Amino acid sequence: MNLAIVGSGYVGLVTGACFAEVGHTVICVDNDLKKVHQLQDGLIPIYEPGLEALVKSNVAAGRLAFTASIGEAVDASKVIFIAVPTPPQPDGSVDLSFVEGVAREIATHIKKEYRIVVDKSTVPVKTGEKVAQTIGRVNPGADIDVVSNPEFLREGSAVEDLMKPDRIVVGVSSERAVGPMREIYEPFNAPIMFTDLNSAELIKHAANSFLALKISYINAVAAICEASGANVERVADGMGADKRIGRAFLNAGIGYGGSCFPKDISAFIRISRELGYPFHLLEEVEKINANQKERFLKKIREALWVLRQKKIGVLGLAFKGNTDDVRSSVAISVVQQLIAEGAEVRAYDPKAMEKAKALVPQAIMVDAPEKVAEGADALLVLTEWSEFKFLPWAAIKKSMLSPLLFDGRNLLSREEMRALGFTYTGIGH
Ligand code: NAD
Repeated sequence: MNLAIVGSGYVGLVTGACFAEVGHTVICVDNDLKKVHQLQDGLIPIYEPGLEALVKSNVAAGRLAFTASIGEAVDASKVIFIAVPTPPQPDGSVDLSFVEGVAREIATHIKKEYRIVVDKSTVPVKTGEKVAQTIGRVNPGADIDVVSNPEFLREGSAVEDLMKPDRIVVGVSSERAVGPMREIYEPFNAPIMFTDLNSAELIKHAANSFLALKISYINAVAAICEASGANVERVADGMGADKRIGRAFLNAGIGYGGSCFPKDISAFIRISRELGYPFHLLEEVEKINANQKERFLKKIREALWVLRQKKIGVLGLAFKGNTDDVRSSVAISVVQQLIAEGAEVRAYDPKAMEKAKALVPQAIMVDAPEKVAEGADALLVLTEWSEFKFLPWAAIKKSMLSPLLFDGRNLLSREEMRALGFTYTGIGH
């Protein structure tokens, strides 16, 4: 089928490449001309494992193309996906101006033929209805259906998640959209769950909030473990072995970040309140998350006393492993705080340093992980890159001024690090 994706970022570009991979013909649109030219020149502006090869092979096969023109994409495609940003506003609500603007622009280009406009951006419940009204207002004759198709991919494994999804959620307001949506997704061999528009939109916010809740739950348990002498990893293993609970998202750490969880949780709190239900449980999830970073910083201050002029090595800047994304990264926010308190930070991240530079210009970026430790008063692990497990830790210890190691992701073995002579502090031990 001929498909268009408006917004060629982490969601739009990966979705476009995966749709092309299963045989659809896809045009990816973006209004960032630099990005479009990069993509047309075969350069991939983001890092996702497997993405570059997928984009290149599908471009070569003539199934994937890039443009800055929504009109061109709407003309050529029966189904148009919207995958533009839905950033948070200062009051926690969602800025829907990108979605609204794209809906209007799509509307102006729709001619006689039937079109399906699919919202893939994460949006508050009832947005689909508003998109349909907007298109109807701008182009009263447009023969369209609006569909909600929330995306559940995880950055860092986006290609795999899209190629092998657990489920595909499709919210429709008309039977007519069901056939084409089924045809698009059938090649992925995953359960397709058809719902009404509002339920599909709510599924996304409810799912992300629940995952964040699991993280905050285990982080609260971690605080109790620290106070009682228990070990949160053993507690999480024991809890997670219960099929009703599951081990995923029970890793204690310095809290969740990224471009989705913080904004989606605050948006869900906000919408719930507007709909007459104050979701206090989720407000507590947010508080625990913010507190987790503070508890980590407190441990560092307790060990180093004054941070001014202390040399602190940082491993990891991305909001999680396997990505170059630093949006709302807790690692970045920890580094900003250390710098604000006068520390000298040397940092390394396998993929995120370029994007991090603008957010922490005072941090010294080094080109090898070992270099952050040279002469350091303390070393912090802030992102769970698995390659950090395999660093030459004995040599790293020798190069430090004092062997203080703060593992904000419980990535390393406490026993092994202590055996090497580190003063190891993790989360929830
Ligand atoms: P992104 O910032 O990586 O990509 C968005 C792209 O849209 C950018 O390239 C931007 O230039 C482009 N854009 C903005 N306005 C445009 C316009 N008017 N016309 C054409 N292009 C335009 O964002 P993302 O991470 O891909 O997220 C997109 C949506 O998907 C958000 O609603 C987000 O919450 C949701 N989502 C993200 C993830 C994730 O892991 N990143 C997962 C699931 C859902």
